[in-house]
Amino acid sequence: MSIPVSDRLLPARDVPLGGVRGVTVERTLPHRDLPTIGAWCFVDHFGPNGMAMKVLPHPHTGLQTVTWPLVGQIRHRDSLGNDLLVKPGELNLMTAGHGIAHSELSDDPVQHGLQLWVALPAATRDGAPAFEHHGDLPTFEDGPLSGTVMVGELVGLRSPATIHSPLVGAELRMRPGSATLALDPAYEHGLLVFDGEVEVDGTMLEQGPLLYLAPGRESFDLRADATARMIVIGGEPFEEEIVMWWNFIGRSNDEIVKFRTDWEARGERFGHVEGHGGAFIPAPPLPNATLLPRRRRPFTKD
Ligand code: MN
Repeated sequence: MSIPVSDRLLPARDVPLGGVRGVTVERTLPHRDLPTIGAWCFVDHFGPNGMAMKVLPHPHTGLQTVTWPLVGQIRHRDSLGNDLLVKPGELNLMTAGHGIAHSELSDDPVQHGLQLWVALPAATRDGAPAFEHHGDLPTFEDGPLSGTVMVGELVGLRSPATIHSPLVGAELRMRPGSATLALDPAYEHGLLVFDGEVEVDGTMLEQGPLLYLAPGRESFDLRADATARMIVIGGEPFEEEIVMWWNFIGRSNDEIVKFRTDWEARGERFGHVEGHGGAFIPAPPLPNATLLPRRRRPFTKD
C-alpha cells in the first residue's frame, strides 16, 4: 500500500539544549506545519550519547511531560516533593497544569531516552499540578510485534496513566518478520524509530525522522529484518491553538509573559525543588516579536 499524500516524513533537527556538556537532542515535533499530533506537542529523542543528564530546576505550565528512558535511569525531583528514579520500561508523567518546577539528573554515562509533551486542554490546563510514576504498564505480544502502552489505549489495552484528551503513546518492538497494528481511525499518528529500522506500509523508517500518519487509518503493517524499536504516538487532532515558548504552553503572548515573570520572581506558582542549593535555570529573554499561536497548515516542501 502506498502512503497517501497527507502522510509525511517529518525530519529531525538537532537542537542544542545548552549547558556545559552541550547536549544535543533530535527534535521532530513541533514541525513548522504541524504543531501537534493529537495533543502531543513536543518530541525529543536524546542519545545514546555517553553523557550524563543534568537539567536543573525549571518550570512548566499547561502541559504534561512524558519521560521514557531507554538506557540509564533518571532522578526526578519536583516542587510537589517527589524524588525518585525512573528506569527503562517505566513512565514518569508530570502534569504541570497551573505550574510546577522539576529537575532531571542522571549519573549514568550512557543516556538514551525520549521526552515528550502533551498539551492540556482548556478544561484542565490551569488545574493543580500532579506527578505519577508507573512501573507496571500493560504489554502485548503478537508474533514478532510486542509493545508497552505508556499512555492511553492501544489494541484494547489501557494504561493507568492520567490523560486529559483522547490520545495514545506506546513503545513497539519488532523481531524479524511482519505484523499489523490496529489503530483508532479517529486518531492521527506519528511513528519514531530509535533502534534499528522497520518498514511501515512499504516505507523504510530508521532513526531520525518522524512518520506522520493522517487520521482515517485503521492499521499499519510493520516488517523488520532485524530487531527494531520505536514509539507510536497519536490522538484526535487537537483543535485548540496553543502558544508554546520555552517550557510554557499558554494561549496568548500575555499569558506567556506572565508565566515568565512568575518564574523569574521565584513566586508561588512554581514552588521550590529541594536539593539543588537554590540553583535553577533562568528563563531566556523573550523575543522582540509577539508570540503567536502555532497553526497547522498544508505541508510545505522542505
Ligand atoms: Mn522539564
